[in-house]
Amino acid sequence: MAARVHVIGAGLAGLAAAVRLTADGVSVIVHEAAGHAGGRCRSFRDEALGADIDNGNHLVLSGNHAALDYLDLIGARDSLSGPAVAEFPFLDLETGSRWSVKPDAGAIPWSVLRGGGRVPGTSLGEYLGGWRIIGAGPEKTVGQCLDTDGPLWRRFWAPLIVSIMNTEPAQSSAALMWRVLKETFGEGAAACRPLIAVEGLSPSFVDPAVQYLEALGGDIRFGRRLRSMTFADDRVAALEFTDGAVALGAEDHVISAVPAPVAAGLIPDISAPDRFSAIVNGHFRLSGAPPDQPFLGILGGTAEWLFVRGDIVSVTVSAADALAERSSADIAEAMWDDIVRAFDRPGTPLGAHRIVKEKRATFVQTPDQVKRRPPCRTRWRNLYLAGDWTDTGLPATIEGTIRSGFRAAASLKTA
Ligand SMILES: Cc1cc2nc3c(=O)[nH]c(=O)nc-3n(C[C@H](O)[C@H](O)[C@H](O)COP(=O)(O)OP(=O)(O)OC[C@H]3O[C@@H](n4cnc5c(N)ncnc54)[C@H](O)[C@@H]3O)c2cc1C
Repeated sequence: MAARVHVIGAGLAGLAAAVRLTADGVSVIVHEAAGHAGGRCRSFRDEALGADIDNGNHLVLSGNHAALDYLDLIGARDSLSGPAVAEFPFLDLETGSRWSVKPDAGAIPWSVLRGGGRVPGTSLGEYLGGWRIIGAGPEKTVGQCLDTDGPLWRRFWAPLIVSIMNTEPAQSSAALMWRVLKETFGEGAAACRPLIAVEGLSPSFVDPAVQYLEALGGDIRFGRRLRSMTFADDRVAALEFTDGAVALGAEDHVISAVPAPVAAGLIPDISAPDRFSAIVNGHFRLSGAPPDQPFLGILGGTAEWLFVRGDIVSVTVSAADALAERSSADIAEAMWDDIVRAFDRPGTPLGAHRIVKEKRATFVQTPDQVKRRPPCRTRWRNLYLAGDWTDTGLPATIEGTIRSGFRAAASLKTA
């Protein structure tokens, strides 16, 4: 058992590892470069809106067991909320048509087979073509498994895949996408309920974890950037931070939970994804009565998803490298146009808003980049890797991230 574990990075991977170890009575120090925890999954105060907003809308599903276990551990499970039944409403701005995707109770999609549960304009034949993604191997792209023409692709597969993979849908890894389908749609409606952080990401995923660590005597230090590691024989011997060096004892361990490019710069010879994809979010204050739909998928516009929290409507666009190059003013106009059409508020002027561009939101999840994901264990016996970019078997999501942190904690305890 480790005398002390140094966790580098207080994103969700680092926090998950730290809370799991702390719960098991291990002495942990978390070192975070920024002045706050949460990394790419956090809330912040926005003065233009006069509200706390999230860096990006995050959706988890009721089948995301690790995410829910983590929330149980830190006492924040009730901070997520969602509809009682799994239902994903959509609007096609080109045609005005509206529909909902409702997974069936079991693994077999009876409503699709019988017809009532199909997306408008789609045929049974198109659904049956989906079998080719089942058990897809690591070399395959989604485009090699599914028909990328036709209404089912445009109205179901493409919006689903881009929002999960943050990668151009046809180029995305079919193996990763299959894994998600298996753990969600494959488990039926009970695993597919969408869950949203009611008060925001930090009040759900971040602040309770920091409070948990502090209450149990864990040590979390902000403004502490790791600059380099010293390696001796087969172990990490010292950590060099911006404010000084820490020598590691013989029983000390290190969990690296920093993003891929940072880890690749700190640790010699590790393989890591090296291409990244943007997500752009827009947050808008909406006057009048708030829409009664908590979220809505959009086709045929700039926006892909709209999320409503009180009088703030937030827009998400994934695989958004091209959009992120446009000016924030330009993006805001385009998103606002979609909002007023979706909620039927023509002529409402654009008010207070904020555009957030996360240019390296996740790595590009194509088969060649997925192959670059490293395992948790490294060739140094006291160094473990965590983070959404490590080989979790899942896409770079909250669920995969938290599993990576839990796995690093478990690997270390069995070392
Ligand atoms: C806009 C957006 C929308 C998303 N939407 C969803 C969604 O709907 N559903 C979903 O499941 N997932 C979503 N994700 C993905 C999810 O947020 C990430 O997979 C997850 O937050 C990654 O966590 P992490 O701990 O691996 O990395 P990070 O959050 O990047 O954490 C790494 C931490 O390390 C710190 N650090 C970096 N360098 C150093 C150093 N040298 N020393 C010390 N500390 C350092 C950083 O400051 C950071 O706090 C989204 C991501 C974004 C950006």
